[in-house]
Formats: sequence, structure tokens, C-alpha cells
Amino acid sequence: MTQSYHALALYSGGLDSILAMKTVLDQGLRVLGLHFCSPFFGHPDKIGHWQRIYNLEIRPVDVHQEFIDILRQGPRFGYGKVLNPCVDCKITMLSHAKSLLDQYGARFLISGEVLGQRPMSQRRDTLNLISKQADVRDLLLRPLCAGHLPSTPMEEEGLVDRSRLHSISGRGRKDQLRLAETYGLTEIPTPAGGCLLAEQESAKRFWPVLTRIPEPSPRDFALANMSRQYWNDGLWMMVGRNKANNDALARMAQAEDLLFKTADVQGPLALGRRKPGIIWTEEDIRRAATFVAGFTAKKRPPGQTPLVRVASSGQSRTLECPAESPSETGWTEFTWDRTKQEKQDWINANSPS
Ligand code: SF4
Repeated sequence: MTQSYHALALYSGGLDSILAMKTVLDQGLRVLGLHFCSPFFGHPDKIGHWQRIYNLEIRPVDVHQEFIDILRQGPRFGYGKVLNPCVDCKITMLSHAKSLLDQYGARFLISGEVLGQRPMSQRRDTLNLISKQADVRDLLLRPLCAGHLPSTPMEEEGLVDRSRLHSISGRGRKDQLRLAETYGLTEIPTPAGGCLLAEQESAKRFWPVLTRIPEPSPRDFALANMSRQYWNDGLWMMVGRNKANNDALARMAQAEDLLFKTADVQGPLALGRRKPGIIWTEEDIRRAATFVAGFTAKKRPPGQTPLVRVASSGQSRTLECPAESPSETGWTEFTWDRTKQEKQDWINANSPS
């Protein structure tokens, strides 16, 4: 039988989410942390460690497809500085958590937001918007900044003691570090968020997948986050950086994908993504093989024709590649500047006129 709790908490692994849970647990209430996992955030592998060192109960919640859908459709409430759709993200997590209340017999929800801490998602008007859109206005307690917010039904009913909640606001961490000491936390998470959508380096890898790959899957985003990434219009190829990377690409490849490897000298493995809706012509394959051969150009004596083995769907063949400069093959890396420009074009095209 599922154990029952008084509250379900959004648990990111960040300090604020730990302190929010601790504040309510400290009042003798039972709290279950929900750790949301998507291709862009979440560390289900750390749950055991967190449970042990913080003495918390935590469950993973899979929202892979929900987050891919949000990004594919474009977030209703906009992006943050990079590709982080923080307002839509919070609404989605709270709505999802609300749908689990009955399953855990829980009465209310907890989140670790701090008024004024983040420019986009933690302003007073945005906190109100999030609660309203997620339809959790009477269910959501924000224990770290409750003193700055109107009391909730949980406080009015006496289930939660308002005088033992906090009034933290702003961007500093001093109050949180003091609280961490009060609750005896021995390991303090670093302030870095851990959300790949907020990092340019990851965002420039995800954007072309979102905009060019039909029906991208969690596997596609995992692939986007490893190895060197190259694009040629709608065609996508990953090139391993080292042996571990090559092995990982080989493990992640699906039968219909194209695997390229130089046959005359040692070189990296490259994976050309092929799935329904992505057509590779013979000329595309030849140009990709030429590009892959370019990674080992220095290993070849002058005049030696590069040989590249191409494997797919259980069959393989070896191509002789022309002495063409890899830069003429059309394959390039996707930059953050290009991502930023395309994101802005999307915003302009989708803004109400
Ligand atoms: S930083 Fe990432 S995980 Fe955090 S609220 Fe924004 S989108 Fe969600």
C-alpha cells in the first residue's frame, strides 16, 4: 500500500528545495519529495545519496515527454536567458504534483521558491501566475518566503504553523546557509542550477534537435548531449571525441542509423541519425564520409585516398572518399549565436501582434 503523507514537495536537489522540505518536516508533518526527471534536468541516480545524507524521502517522477512537448511547441510564458522555460516548467511540475496528491493521500504541495531570487520565475506577480495556471492557489505552500505571502488554507486550518515558516527574499544565500546549519545539513549543494536548458553549451546542442528532428525522443536529447555535434541542413551527425565516447555512440546507435569509421587509419566513430522523416541520399552519405575522413587527414601520407566504412541495418560497405576539403562538405557545428538568433526569430514570429 502507498504510504500517506501530509505534503508532496518539488525536490530539485538544490538547497532551497531541501530547506523547504526540512521546514515542514520540522513541524512533525510527513513530506515526500518529488524529483522530476527530463532529458534536461534531474538526477535519479543521486536519490539514494540524498535520502541518506538529508534524511528525506524522495521519489523520481518521469516528465521526459512533457518537457520535450513544451519545448517543441514553444513555452507559453517565454524563455529565460537561454532555453529555460522556467514559468512553464514550474506550472507543469506543480500540475503534475497536484495530480499525485490523492495517490499519496497528501493535503498540500511545497515548493522552495524564494521571492525575488530569480528575475523571471520568482517575482511576486510570476509566483501568483504560476499558482493560478497550475490551479494550486489553495494547495501550495512556499515555506521559505511564506512570511511575504498571504496565508494559505493549510496555515489557517492550523495544519501548518505560520510562525515557524520563513520570510526569505532576494538573491543572497546567507539566510539559507544559516538555516542549513540549523537543520544540520552536512553537504550544501552548490548554487549552480543543474538545468541544461539554462546553459548555452547544452542549449546549442538541443535547439537543432528540437527544430529539425521529427518527433525527437529522449534518446535524441541524450545523444545531443554527448560527443561533437555537426549539422548539414536537417541531417545530424555525432563524432566521438575519444574511445569512451565512440563506445557510447555505438551503444546508443539504432539499427537504421549510419555508423561511419575510417578503414585505412584509426579514427573516431561517427553516428549519422536516421529515422522516419530524415532522408540521407547517397550523396549525403558520401559527403558525411568525406567529413569523417577529415578528422584523420594528418595520419595519411600525401596522395592516399581515405577509406571510410559505413554500416547500417546490419550491412556495411567501404567508400573511397575524394580528396575534398571537409569544410566543403557542408557539415558545421551549431553555435550559440545561431541558436540565439533562431530563438529570437521564433519569438518574433509567435508574439501576438
Ligand atoms: S532552470 Fe530549468 S528546471 Fe529550473 S525552473 Fe527553469 S526550466 Fe525548470
